[in-house]
Amino acid sequence: MDLKAHIRGVPDFPKKGIYFYDVASLLKSGPAFTETTRRLVEAVRVHEPQALAVIESRGFLFGAPVAAALGLGLVLVRKRGKLPGDVVAHAYDLEYGTDTLEVQADAVAPGQRVVLVDDVLATGGTAQAAVDLLHKVGAKVAGAAFLIELRFLKGRGRLHVPVDSLLAYDE
Ligand code: AMP
Repeated sequence: MDLKAHIRGVPDFPKKGIYFYDVASLLKSGPAFTETTRRLVEAVRVHEPQALAVIESRGFLFGAPVAAALGLGLVLVRKRGKLPGDVVAHAYDLEYGTDTLEVQADAVAPGQRVVLVDDVLATGGTAQAAVDLLHKVGAKVAGAAFLIELRFLKGRGRLHVPVDSLLAYDE
């Protein structure tokens, strides 16, 4: 199945000059969503994870069915202020300013092998921040898997874990 045919490109969204790869157009197709999940399961499985870590919010959509298919639990990586109880935070630099990701302090067992799942690898800033945060709470990050990789932004080189992507774009 040609999954790229299900990804709609939207020019100038959310701001001028950004070509946005819209996964909603893939999610609305049952067969495309099922095939995406199947391929992500294959990419993730080789790392023999004990849990999957997913990044809010589109990472949740793709990671959850993969975790369920593999019989694994989820570690939720969320934006600041969304998770109750004791949380561990990690601030990271954006083009302008900073942002913060959080996980619950007890989300990961010491040394637990996790694989990160998200929708799009762009510059890799968010994914590497998630990897750093997972390390902070004691996880071993065995790899990261994405539906889409924007190769021209070179995010893969910024991530210090093995990277898999199902669909690559060069512009
Ligand atoms: P980054 O930190 O640059 O790797 O990007 C962070 C997140 O922004 C990705 O996980 C995507 O959810 C989203 N994103 C960035 N660029 C795009 C794009 N061109 N199309 C769709 N989503 C994007």
